[in-house]
Amino acid sequence: MAFGFGKKRDDVDDEDDDEEEEEEVDLVNFQGAMNGKTADMAANARLVQAALRPTKDMITDALERRAETIRVDVKGEKAQVALSIDGMPFAGGRLAKLQATAITQMLKVLCGLDARLKGKHQVGGVKAEFHGTKYELTVDIAPQPDATERLTVRVRNLNHKLETPVDLGFSDSLRQTIRDITGHRHGIIVCCGMPGSGVTTTTYALLRGIDVYLYSIYSIAKTDRELLNIKKFEVNPEDDLQTSMMRMIREESDVIFVDPIRDADTTQQLMSVADKICIISELQARDCASAIAQLVEWSGDRQKASELIDAAFSPKLVRLLCPQCREAFRPNPKLLEKVGLPPETKVLYRKGEPAVDEKTGEEDDPCEKCGGAGFFGRMAMMEVIIVTDPIRKLIADGAPSDQIKALARAEGCLTFHKDGLRLVAEGKTSLEELQRVFKG
Ligand SMILES: [Zn+2]
Repeated sequence: MAFGFGKKRDDVDDEDDDEEEEEEVDLVNFQGAMNGKTADMAANARLVQAALRPTKDMITDALERRAETIRVDVKGEKAQVALSIDGMPFAGGRLAKLQATAITQMLKVLCGLDARLKGKHQVGGVKAEFHGTKYELTVDIAPQPDATERLTVRVRNLNHKLETPVDLGFSDSLRQTIRDITGHRHGIIVCCGMPGSGVTTTTYALLRGIDVYLYSIYSIAKTDRELLNIKKFEVNPEDDLQTSMMRMIREESDVIFVDPIRDADTTQQLMSVADKICIISELQARDCASAIAQLVEWSGDRQKASELIDAAFSPKLVRLLCPQCREAFRPNPKLLEKVGLPPETKVLYRKGEPAVDEKTGEEDDPCEKCGGAGFFGRMAMMEVIIVTDPIRKLIADGAPSDQIKALARAEGCLTFHKDGLRLVAEGKTSLEELQRVFKG
């Protein structure tokens, strides 16, 4: 099997390719199904014999390359493995159809799913460990019209706690802004974006940005993530949201974190208490101004909404240049002027390209850190609208979202563009990457 690159396996292949050497390769360890069932390896001995190693090879390759998802699609007698790394698609190698089917069956067993069951959508999970890092692999098996099964594995790195404002790369002034507005003990703060834009992670970063020594934070959000320094509030099953929030207010909480806002009813319940407590939530919206306009509409009361909405935050993920192979260059003044960077900027960075051997014309080995992708990890660029008095007036007057946006910009709010250029100036990402994100 050829799976992109796998440094350790290549090293082994260089010398002699016997079985014994192969066994020394560091492979992922599966550590039990997430549904608590015991994988019945004995009853599936033949499958285990044929498919455990190829399954480990495929998952190991994906984890080495930091993939978030692995997808295996069967087409004819072949199967294509596709990886998503930092949100970008990468080829993950080809398999024979039989092998792909065996891997899918193997994963069903490892996840405690029914391996005999075909043609039915099944979802499960398996715990894994690789190079000292723990993972949770969610396995989704979807039947296709041609009677094959599509395998999708979603990877969650449990050591990856991108949840503090510092980890997420928030600027100092943004961190100060978070502390300022959450200190009001009043109002609604939403974090908004489209699915997959890093909204949930950003919301946690917002929560982590609150000074926990000064404020007490309660959560009634249904989340399986552990929220540091945030107390889980025990909700009475018979209480509605409003009643639960009133109880939290009586227990002297300053900030509450609630489930994503999806409708008018929730918005109105939140607004009924938001004059006594600071509420943080998520909302699906294109940008901050759209999120504010949506809340105003759902509230059914422009005046009240104008008094209670305090701020909207929105992230957009941008890939970070690989620190090992990024290339420095001296930008010319015209470029700086065109993109809006200060004229005194001395150096910018772009994606590194592998050097070409002058004699043979062949490319050197790809960078060890990023495997030649040129990027390593992602960070959020932020747009932030703080609802100032002039914006409150616009909201109360029923202004559309583009007017709210225009005024916020005139007041100098943080925009994706500004925050993105900060990351470019700091050498964390490239102008090309910014362009790609803005086009998408
Ligand atoms: Zn690199």
